[in-house]
Amino acid sequence: MIALRNQQPVVPVAGVTADKLIDSFDDLRGGTRRHNALDIMAPRNTPVVAATAGKILKLHNSVAGGLTVYASDPTERYVFLYGHLETFRTGLAEGALVRRGEIIGFVGSSGNASLLAPHLHFAITRNDDMRSWWKGNPLNPFLIYRGR
Ligand SMILES: [Zn+2]
Repeated sequence: MIALRNQQPVVPVAGVTADKLIDSFDDLRGGTRRHNALDIMAPRNTPVVAATAGKILKLHNSVAGGLTVYASDPTERYVFLYGHLETFRTGLAEGALVRRGEIIGFVGSSGNASLLAPHLHFAITRNDDMRSWWKGNPLNPFLIYRGR
């Protein structure tokens, strides 16, 4: 987690500062499943930006998560998940390199998010082997931004 903090990740929603974040990592969803993510509330179509530089691993659409971007950090030890997007940024492609703070999509309520409460579902995992990047262990993003 220190190694990630040292990269000074930006809060991935434009205009949202770290002091506005609310820790929802340990919330239970669907009864017993832990949230393991941070929900960042913002008006629909607010830009979502890359927390650190890195590579786009996958652009995905699922019933629960909706439009989702998965991206790595430059050290290939961390994976960021940006979910419930309204749209991806036009032209964003798997394999593309992004800069820290670069727009990758826009806040929305795709998947199972409430239409009345658009937000970014933001998760971070620590990965030992990026060849199986989907198998990481969840880290609390709140502690990255507020754990100082
Ligand atoms: Zn969430």
